[in-house]
Amino acid sequence: MSRKKGRLFVISGPSGTGKGTVCAELLKDIGNEFSVSMTTRAPREGEVHGREYFFVTREEFNANIEAGNFLEHAQVFDNLYGTPKDMVLSRLDRGYNVILDIDVQGGLQVRKAMPEAVLIFILPPSLTELRRRLEGRGTEDPEKVEKRLGEALNEIRLIGEYDYYIVNNDIDEAVALARSIIAAEKAKVPEAVRPLIREYEKETN
Ligand code: 5GP
Repeated sequence: MSRKKGRLFVISGPSGTGKGTVCAELLKDIGNEFSVSMTTRAPREGEVHGREYFFVTREEFNANIEAGNFLEHAQVFDNLYGTPKDMVLSRLDRGYNVILDIDVQGGLQVRKAMPEAVLIFILPPSLTELRRRLEGRGTEDPEKVEKRLGEALNEIRLIGEYDYYIVNNDIDEAVALARSIIAAEKAKVPEAVRPLIREYEKETN
């Protein structure tokens, strides 16, 4: 059968839920590719331009908005983040699944732009557990932890817009469930069913 187009997967969830780890594990699988976002945030130690993000100035970011280069873009905390459109589309055309690690505002924009995208939400087992994880990181002062918890609840309130949710009680189980979702989505009968039927019809000619 001819090569199918890839599928677009959005992975969202409050910070501290382990969504970065889930994405990193999915990217070890052949056929899945990560979309590197553009951001105005400063690189953290160890981050490399073009690997974790394309780090740009606000001027550069705004020029990309003007040029219509983003599939979606949003302000998250104090910085701007955006998904470069061309890279996503060309990878999908080449048959790769593309994984976006983006916030909920971005996820909702992707839903509008590409209704066929699959939206997955990663949830913490509870807000108490999320607080424990955020405090455990030791990088956030107490005020910031409270702010993140408030933001987490606001994101969770939008879960109805998503297709799937994964409660991250155990990272291995969470990754296994994400893999199952991707596998099931790949096996879904497409809405445009004609090309699929034609593949079989061709054999009878
Ligand atoms: P961080 O700065 O910690 O890497 O990411 C902060 C938040 O921004 C995370 O929730 C991450 O998912 C989100 N994010 C990263 N890239 C994008 C993007 O291109 N678009 C949107 N909307 N959110 C993003």
